[in-house]
Amino acid sequence: MHRHHIETEKLLLPMLTLAKEEARHLQTVLRLRMNDEVELFDGRGVTVLARVVSAERNGMTLSPVAAPVRHAPHTCKLVLFVCVSKAKRMDWTVEKAVELGASQIVPVISARTIVRLDDEDDAEGKTERWTRIAVEAARQSGTAWLPEVFAPVTFAEACAQIRAQDRATTPTFVAALSPDAIPMKQALTKWRSQNPATAGWFVGPEGDFTPEELQQVIAAGAIPVSLGRQILRAETAAIWGLCVLGAEWG
Ligand code: SAH
Repeated sequence: MHRHHIETEKLLLPMLTLAKEEARHLQTVLRLRMNDEVELFDGRGVTVLARVVSAERNGMTLSPVAAPVRHAPHTCKLVLFVCVSKAKRMDWTVEKAVELGASQIVPVISARTIVRLDDEDDAEGKTERWTRIAVEAARQSGTAWLPEVFAPVTFAEACAQIRAQDRATTPTFVAALSPDAIPMKQALTKWRSQNPATAGWFVGPEGDFTPEELQQVIAAGAIPVSLGRQILRAETAAIWGLCVLGAEWG
């Protein structure tokens, strides 16, 4: 089934006209023609099946063929804190995180993050790019929910976000290459039966966290866990955690 992301207000219209630019994906990539059907999704849990009623060179008109469907959100909201990596690796991480059902992606700038954001425009541009990748991954994976992709935050801001959560009900696990990190399996035993509504996964950059950062995030409430004896690349570690948490609560 072809899918197309669209804002909620438009998705609910009885007749939807898309201008040339907006219709481009449907016309030139999906090659939709008169009477073809497409699932529209708003990324906030609503989908609607629509049919092409006219396709012109300068746009397209669609009309719903069934009532909108409301899909339940994930029972556990997975939040990925990920230190910004070089373009391709970060793009890949965002795509896979969406496929694995992350609800929020929080890019973090830490001391050893190689990628520097020169100014606000740069941060904005990157956030837009990651959002586009997230929309495409959501479209492809069939989900009705689009994760929130945040603008990059500082390490201190990420810690503040973790600190603001109730650590008795909301675990955040941090992938830590330190001797005091406990195996994830062991860390999960305490949480397994609690079915938290939100769970966080924090991964360091290619150059790792600094010891001070690790201290800070643990002081903010994160639980340091080990992923085993092998050192994984940051993006592998990001995916590893989402797989494990998704298998528990996804
Ligand atoms: N450059 C560092 C490795 C960084 S790995 C070195 O050579 O030592 C990047 C990130 O992935 C780390 O900050 C950590 O968050 C996570 N990570 C990778 N392998 C891990 C493991 N075995 N246990 C815990 N965290 C791991």
